[in-house]
Amino acid sequence: MPLPSVIFASSFVPPEWIEAHGLRPSRVAPRAAGAVEREGLCPFAGAFAAAADGPDVAAAVFTTTCDQMRRAAEIGGDGGRAERFVMHVPSTWQTPAAHRLYREELGRLGRFLVRLGGHGPAPGELAACMERREAMRDEVLARRPRLTSRAHGDLAMRFHETGVLPPASDTVPASGGSPLMLLGGPMRREDLGLFDTIDRSGGCVAVDGTESGEREWPRRFDRRRMGGDPAGELADAYFGHIPAVFRRPDSGLFDWLAAALRATPVRGIVVVTHPWCDAWRAEVPRIRDASPVPVLALDLAGAGASAGEGSTRVEAFLEALR
Ligand code: SF4
Repeated sequence: MPLPSVIFASSFVPPEWIEAHGLRPSRVAPRAAGAVEREGLCPFAGAFAAAADGPDVAAAVFTTTCDQMRRAAEIGGDGGRAERFVMHVPSTWQTPAAHRLYREELGRLGRFLVRLGGHGPAPGELAACMERREAMRDEVLARRPRLTSRAHGDLAMRFHETGVLPPASDTVPASGGSPLMLLGGPMRREDLGLFDTIDRSGGCVAVDGTESGEREWPRRFDRRRMGGDPAGELADAYFGHIPAVFRRPDSGLFDWLAAALRATPVRGIVVVTHPWCDAWRAEVPRIRDASPVPVLALDLAGAGASAGEGSTRVEAFLEALR
């Protein structure tokens, strides 16, 4: 019998933790089509709320990483089968108290997973899950040069949703266009059309700094610390290091940006924001100031809205970079 699926959208929910408790983690890229769309509501948060009412979902984990996600936890759920869990993730990260709180929240999530039908991790189980996931994240990055941006976006999404990777022979030729960095909010399934537009317009995504991309992966695990206290190492690798937009101070985001641009030179940055996302919109002027290369700020269209205008702007941006 397949394991019950626990879905989440935030990078602060470690899939290793859910897996080690005997349940199936799925970090979903929700669908825009059919999702709740209303004035003032981030379409990504609305789409995740709709996904939480999906047929194969045992539980949905929401995080307090922004007001919109907090609010989304209260949308729907009436009569749905899935349980909902709201995980508190402090926005401050520089104090021991904030780290302790996150670790306690992992413990609370663990007890919730056990109530849901899971079990506490057996000795070595969490460390094994951490090693396996880290190797797969490495593999996802290693395959990027051999794929089009769209194919790589699909691959990363599939990995996050299912925790498995297709054989490497499934690869398709790389696009080899002008390298770009994507930066900004999370991608719904339909937003992957942006990768197609970039491929078609002579570009390629060399760094995915969106909330769905590698910017929001944990740091590499320290094998020595993992041996002694795997849960502590897991908490530090996620909470102590992911440079998310909601963190205060948000210096980690700009440190990451500078380091990523040094490691992978790109010709331009495309910053994607969802309507009603104050967090990312507020950062756009600062990203422009910090960037040594041209920056295009792009709205991700709501469900049913035309993506045509966005495509034209991406084409014009790439044309200007040549
Ligand atoms: S895109 Fe912005 S508003 Fe939406 S969930 Fe992410 S941070 Fe929150």
